[in-house]
Amino acid sequence: MLIGHLPAGYFLTRALIKKNKIPLTPLWLGLGLVASVLPDFDIAYSILFKDSIGSHRYYFTNFPAFYLTFLLMAVLIYFLVRKKWLKFGIIIVFANIFLHLFLDTMFVGIKWLWPFWDGLIGVYNVGLTNGFIVENYFHHWYWYLEIVLWVIAVSSVVCSYKKGELRN
Ligand SMILES: [Zn+2]
Repeated sequence: MLIGHLPAGYFLTRALIKKNKIPLTPLWLGLGLVASVLPDFDIAYSILFKDSIGSHRYYFTNFPAFYLTFLLMAVLIYFLVRKKWLKFGIIIVFANIFLHLFLDTMFVGIKWLWPFWDGLIGVYNVGLTNGFIVENYFHHWYWYLEIVLWVIAVSSVVCSYKKGELRN
């Protein structure tokens, strides 16, 4: 997924806020949006340091095992301190990170089995990994889905704003 992570993260965060009765504030919504694109921050790194590793999917910032370790630590801390804000934070941050990884599994893939197996696991690809070869991503339904996500998310934000939900 190239551009769809942010709108997808917006919908997930709104749903989590509703389900877990988390206050709908710019802080919690913003945290979800940042987490939804967090695994792609390595792109900025590779551009800054001109690191040509092939695909940023090979960076540890795209490894589920890396985030599972942090999730485990965060849950342990939560059981020690039992703060509500920490619970909200864990739910919003890690759900968005794993949504990102699931969405990236559709194209190119993610190292789901690292460190046990070093390959990318993905459904479709453009020549980097195994899977169904796609000639042109911009003619693929997954690309159209990304655009649809943006259209619905922007309309939803406008509606929420008009209703006064996002004005605090
Ligand atoms: Zn990504």
